[in-house]
Amino acid sequence: MGRQSQKIGTVAVVAHRRKSLGGGLDELRRLLADEGVGRLLWYEVPKSRKAPKKVRKALKEGAELVLVWGGDGMVQRCVDALAGSGVTVGVIPAGTANLFAQNLGIPEDLPKAVQIAFHGASRKLDLGKVNGEHFAVMAGLGFDAKMIKDADRGLKDRLGRVAYVWTGLRHVRGEPVPMKVKIDGVTWFEGEASCLLLGNVGVITGGIEAFDDARPDDGWLEIGVTTAKGPIQWARVLGRMSAGRSDESPFVRMTRARKVSVKLGAPMPYELDGGAKGTVTELRAAVVPGGITIRVPRDDASDRP
Ligand SMILES: [Mg+2]
Repeated sequence: MGRQSQKIGTVAVVAHRRKSLGGGLDELRRLLADEGVGRLLWYEVPKSRKAPKKVRKALKEGAELVLVWGGDGMVQRCVDALAGSGVTVGVIPAGTANLFAQNLGIPEDLPKAVQIAFHGASRKLDLGKVNGEHFAVMAGLGFDAKMIKDADRGLKDRLGRVAYVWTGLRHVRGEPVPMKVKIDGVTWFEGEASCLLLGNVGVITGGIEAFDDARPDDGWLEIGVTTAKGPIQWARVLGRMSAGRSDESPFVRMTRARKVSVKLGAPMPYELDGGAKGTVTELRAAVVPGGITIRVPRDDASDRP
């Protein structure tokens, strides 16, 4: 009784096969059966870059809810394909880095994440778009992709935020390069910079709140440029970040933007949501307001009338 009335139409699962949470994909299937899913589309991929094809297939098949099983990289690939579709997304944080879910209050707990995906509030959130590709958490030119990758959890548990500072520092060898940044067509920064970050949410690297007041539904991207050179200046930047005061560092300049263009005097690698995307000398970014609909916990204060 009751199950039939709750039945929702077509649900798609797009799962990164190598990622795990709780009782794994077997438990996910059982939980979906309990939810009384009408029609279930099931896709597994060995790599997140194979996900967009499956997402497009799911959309063609009429999926009304797409569950994404994986971490930030998987979410990024899926939301890139889902942006503007109006289809609702449930995030099952099964990855090694789940910053997007963490920012939205979706716990790394399978039954709870499924409960939120089916019964949470649907919220339209912004995405960022860089060189034609959407991101959900952050985009970075410079050091941070490796910083996210190397910040392992065990280390964080033992040492707390400081561990991230050090794992980050290990990779900060990047020489500053000439950088020109325009915001909405007007030059905002011109000089030597070692890294540029664009944030859609506040917590953009493991445990470190880089953008204090970032909101994924305000129609703005946070932008930060660091001019730090050498390990001593970097230690100061990261120290301030780990203390939650990144905007007070003399080597960081931050503001908000809707549209950003960056020109570099030398090529720099860039990354989206922790995934390396290549090396560029130019970058165009913009906020995509309300670009994706995500199920979030109902007790989120912003969902109250
Ligand atoms: Mg924002």
